Amino acid sequence: MFFFFAGGVTQEVRQVLKQEAGRCVNCRSPADLVNTNKVLKLFFVPVWRWPGKDQLMHCNNCGLFYPPSLSPNSAENL
Ligand SMILES: [Zn+2]
Repeated sequence: MFFFFAGGVTQEVRQVLKQEAGRCVNCRSPADLVNTNKVLKLFFVPVWRWPGKDQLMHCNNCGLFYPPSLSPNSAENL
């Protein structure tokens, strides 16, 4: 893991699959179900980008990515 210099792997939204599919585990705002890209950045410059394998939830408010399995009572109890 190379997180100790000015770079690292971040994630970005590639495609929104379902808007407001759940609630953010952090701030409780509506979160979208998305496909993601992983982006390798060195000195804040994207140098490599590849599709992420998993679908993730993405919060529109705080920008958090998290797995759908962490979403409390997703969809069913809303
Ligand atoms: Zn949030």
